Formats: sequence, C-alpha cells, structure tokens
Amino acid sequence: MLDLSHMPVIDNHCHPVLLNQQMDALQFRSYFTEATDASFPEKHVRNSIYYTWFLRQAAKFYGCAAREEEILAVRNSIDADALLERLLEAAHIDTLILDPAYPLSDQCYTPDRMSELGHCHTAKMLRLETLMQQFILAHDDFDDLLEHYSTELSNIRERGYCAFKSIVAYRTGLNIEQWSKDEAVASFAEARVSAIRSGRLRIAHKPLLDYLLRIAFHKAAEQQLPVQFHTGYGDSDTDMRLGNPLHLRDVLEQPEYRSMQVVLLHESYPYCQLGAYLAAIYPHVYFDLSYTIPFVDKLEMLAFTRQALGVAPASKLMFSTDGIDVPEMHWVGAMRGRSIIGQVLDELIDADEIDQEQAYHLAQFILRDTARTVYRL
Ligand SMILES: [Zn+2]
Repeated sequence: MLDLSHMPVIDNHCHPVLLNQQMDALQFRSYFTEATDASFPEKHVRNSIYYTWFLRQAAKFYGCAAREEEILAVRNSIDADALLERLLEAAHIDTLILDPAYPLSDQCYTPDRMSELGHCHTAKMLRLETLMQQFILAHDDFDDLLEHYSTELSNIRERGYCAFKSIVAYRTGLNIEQWSKDEAVASFAEARVSAIRSGRLRIAHKPLLDYLLRIAFHKAAEQQLPVQFHTGYGDSDTDMRLGNPLHLRDVLEQPEYRSMQVVLLHESYPYCQLGAYLAAIYPHVYFDLSYTIPFVDKLEMLAFTRQALGVAPASKLMFSTDGIDVPEMHWVGAMRGRSIIGQVLDELIDADEIDQEQAYHLAQFILRDTARTVYRL
C-alpha cells in the first residue's frame, strides 16, 4: 500500500474560515451543501453519503461518538483559534492558496493568521469579478474604469497575489465572447443603472464581464500568471450547461493568451473527463482535483481521480479541498485526497501500469509539485 499520509500538500484552491466557530447543527450542516434552499440543512444533508462519512471522521478526531450533537458539543467547547490550529496541523499542509474574497473578510481569519495558527504557508488569489464590481460602482466613466482596472491587474505578484480567479461560470458562462468596445460601454451603462438603483452590484452583464475578463487575460499572459476558473459544480444559481469547460475553447485557442496558465477548478464535475482531456491537450491547461467540495462520496472521488490520471499527466494535475467556513473541511479534504490518490495509484501498480517508485513521484506532482511550479511558490 502506498502511504501518502505524511506527504505535505499544497491546497491550490480554498477559502478562509469563519472567526466565529460556535454554531448549532442547522448552521453547521448548511456548509455541507451547495443548495441554498432551507430544506437541505433541515432534511437532506444528514442523509447524504458525504455528511455521514464526514461525521465518522470528525468523531475520530474529537474522540467522541459519531453523533452530530456530540461532535458539535465537543467542537463548540474548543475556541476557534485552537480548533483551526489542531485541524490544520493534523492536515499536514505545506501551503494554502486562498480566495480571500469569500466569505466576507470581516467575518474570517486573515490569510496571515491562518498561516500562523496552521503552521503553514498561505498565498492569495485575486477574484476578478469582485474587483470588477468595486470598480464599476466607483467609476461613472468607462475609460476611467479601464485605466484603473488595468493598473490594479499589473505587478500582481508584488501586490501579494499568485493567481487570478474567475467565477464567470456562475454568472454568464464560460463561453467568453469577443465584444466591441461600444457593446461593452452599453453594457456598462446598464450595470451602472441597476447598481445605482439597488445600491449594490452583482455583475452578470455579459458583454461587460467578457470584455473586462479579456483585459485580465492579457494582463495574466503578460505576467505569466495562472487564472483559476470555476468549472462545473458550484453555486446553486449556476447554469451548469455553461459550466462545461469545453466552452473555454475560444480562450484556450487564442495565441496571445498562451502564456497564461488556465486552472480548471473542481475537477469540472460532472464534466471530469472533458476537463482532464483539456489538460492533456493544451500545454497551458491544468486540472484541479478537489476532495471536499463538491460533496460527493468516495466512489465518485475514486472515479474522477481515475479519469484524471487516466488521460492527463500528473504534472498537469493539482490537489485542492475548496475548504471554506469551517476548518474541518481543509483537514478532511487533505486526508481524503491523499488516501484516494494513494488508492488509485495502488490500482495502477496492481494493473502493472506503474511501479511503487513511479507512483510516489506521480503523487508528489498532484499533492505538491505541480502547484509549486504553476503558482511559483
Ligand atoms: Zn472555491
């Protein structure tokens, strides 16, 4: 058996955890579903394979029975700093690459504090849509907006970020098109009107969003910076048809974007084979294997890990958890990821595809080395 339990991991996509970790069962459960309807934490989460398995792992960690109320009683008796410290240490993490744009920063541990408590490194990515929203609200002139936006996307490593991230799949889809400046200006005017009316902005104006994204891609290419794209499974309001990574073809084919690395997040679930295929074909495409979110069971995780390793080189694959809100997610995803990758590599040894030593090297790429290279850590 390939034992990867001591291999430190780079979690190439996750989020900060909440400062307030005191919570009741309904709140805790609500973090274990992507559905927003209240019926899920009330009735359904407890009946998911993922959550049932998760409670058993948590019970072992907290030394109590695998009953939700007992687990919550133990975790609520530990202060948030200590909880974070114990879980991240047990996860044996080298680096967390955080998207600090969500949850809101005033409710969360800062990356620096997570690093201190977790005895690990942290790095940050810059979420493009959040930045766009701030800039659209702050500027009434489009050229003004473009100037400030472009400046903000320059010298990005010196500003403390190692990647951009886009959630366009959750807004207007991965079919990012070419729009004229006039079309973008008209779309900007519409966005401003709705923003002024409601006092806030959720950018879902396709010509504007696509136009601003293409500027960001030029900036990323210039700086040889990776851009993470949410693909497949995600927020409940996403149009899953447009979360298929094959929609990125136009962007992937653009010669001027070739020096921007594209990271397809969440194993593009359920478009796993398609996403892994893109990583196998395009030199600048990488495929993220996420072992907490989406909340799928072990059999499904084995399946996507097999599909990814079946077609794409391990030097194109990267581990993550997408952990968010509660530190158990970062911990359990690291444990689960190592064990599933180990099991699939064991199967490949049994099938006489690779030997033990090769398996170990491939695991190192997925758990750490691919990310280290791509994000220049
Ligand atoms: Zn995420």
